[in-house]
Amino acid sequence: RNHRRDFDCRSDIDKMNAPFLTLYESLVPAEEEKVKQKKLLTSLEKLVNKEWPQAQLYLYGSCANSFGVSKSDIDVCLSIEDLNISKADLLLKLADMLKLDNLKNVQALTHARVPIVKLMDPESRISCDICINNVLAVVNTKLLRDYAEIDNRLRQLAFIVKHWAKSRGVNETYRGTLSSYAYVLMCIHFLQQRKPAILPCLQGMEATYAITIEDIKCVYFDKVEKLRGFGARNRESISQLVWAFFDYWAFRHDYANSVISVRTGSILSKRAKDWTRRIGNDRHLICIEDPFEISHDLGRVVDKYTIKVLREEFERAANVLQYDRNPCVTLFDPYVP
Ligand code: ATP
Ligand code: MG
Repeated sequence: RNHRRDFDCRSDIDKMNAPFLTLYESLVPAEEEKVKQKKLLTSLEKLVNKEWPQAQLYLYGSCANSFGVSKSDIDVCLSIEDLNISKADLLLKLADMLKLDNLKNVQALTHARVPIVKLMDPESRISCDICINNVLAVVNTKLLRDYAEIDNRLRQLAFIVKHWAKSRGVNETYRGTLSSYAYVLMCIHFLQQRKPAILPCLQGMEATYAITIEDIKCVYFDKVEKLRGFGARNRESISQLVWAFFDYWAFRHDYANSVISVRTGSILSKRAKDWTRRIGNDRHLICIEDPFEISHDLGRVVDKYTIKVLREEFERAANVLQYDRNPCVTLFDPYVP
């Protein structure tokens, strides 16, 4: 596994720069799509406030973390103080209200890991999932969005990695591969590790933002407008970074011992986290620490079969970028079982 793989020829790598940037531009949603999403959120909030005047709605996930491609579904969190009603009953009641308001495909999934109501707005044709009081997701959404403000290369890299993962069928948590959230954390961590660093470690800096959610203190530096230009000393292009990202996950990451940690901006040992053995369903075969719920390994969905699938896909990507004649196409060839 210890191949020596450095650029023989920089110019070969740089040829991929323009196609990667074109792909990125084609994936970024248009401004009017954001406007439509906000409009839907406002009308949903109005509806919810008729029944629960103190409730608030927040966008989270890819529609709010700046890593969303165009035409994705939106994720909404309903924040509401304790009522004398169970979460399941609340979701059922919400579903009834949405149906009466002419929203389509309304469905309450009260037994899901994260219980939600699904709906589709016939006017904008936007689909939406509403969950209840999932404030940590709203806060980790803000963290990702704040990182994206610091250096454009994060958004470019993450869009390309997410597009690759979706094309290759390795962005399906219910099948044992990684979530979009996990891939974005892998990109942030990777850019924190470049020399010179392209991203700082916001949770290691002065606290300008602090909120406590279910005993978890979420604290970090969020004045990111002050950090624009942080990575300017590093001149790596997007194609170099995509190449190095896959090279890292294919050939350099120490799967047996390492945990990647955006929170500390470093690599931790599995031993220090006591993530060395399987506990219940957590196998820790690829370890990605959640920045706030630090006992939470985003790689826990990966099992002994899907870890092979993932690592083979990382190796395929690295090899395509190194040797293929048309890497910007081959990299995203749909996986056909
Ligand atoms: P996509 O474009 O694929 O929809 P997404 O950013 O919406 O990407 P999801 O994986 O659908 O990603 O997750 C939505 C949001 O839910 C994430 O942005 C994150 O805030 C939260 N989330 C998802 N999975 C986890 C998890 N395992 N732990 C904590 N939060 C999570
Ligand atoms: Mg989503």
